Amino acid sequence: TTPSIDLKQYIRGIPDFPKPGILFYDISTLMRNADAWQIAMGRLTAAVAPWSVDVLAAIESRGFLTAAPLASRLGCGLVMLRKPGKLPGETISYDYDLEYGKDSLHIQADAIVPGQRVVVMDDLLATGGTLAASIALLRKVGAEVVGAATLIELTGLGGRDRLDVPVKTLVAYD
Ligand code: IMP
Repeated sequence: TTPSIDLKQYIRGIPDFPKPGILFYDISTLMRNADAWQIAMGRLTAAVAPWSVDVLAAIESRGFLTAAPLASRLGCGLVMLRKPGKLPGETISYDYDLEYGKDSLHIQADAIVPGQRVVVMDDLLATGGTLAASIALLRKVGAEVVGAATLIELTGLGGRDRLDVPVKTLVAYD
């Protein structure tokens, strides 16, 4: 059992980043506190462990920071979902729409053994567009996507409802 601390104490909202009108939830202050980060990773581990994960898929770049310690605790594999031009070797990509314009995520073509149980991870769930695209990409390479997990969820945006897998999050804001 982990102490009943409120992780919100360690997360700050920074107004007008990266654009005016956006309130950006910053996990830097959570990560730099050794005890709070340990507790957060312990809680995420407990939430995700029942899914019997083979591989965690980490979304660039703050997903890397949450997924790597979790994979180590779960004793499972770790693969990267990256922006174009970052991964060596053959890659498979998935294009998706952003509020303004388009983006694309890549995975190494041989990263997943078809049928592996994969959980996708990021720092924060907002509209769900990034996780939905990641799930579509993982399915393209044969993954069985069994869940998604983030530290933070912006519940007012309904992102969870866009996803057809179970979702675990630690901290919610309206
Ligand atoms: P979504 O695709 O709308 O769910 O947005 C989630 C993506 O945007 C994730 O990759 C997040 O890292 C990033 N993001 C959106 N809002 C924030 C925020 O307030 N803090 C940190 N990351 C954010």
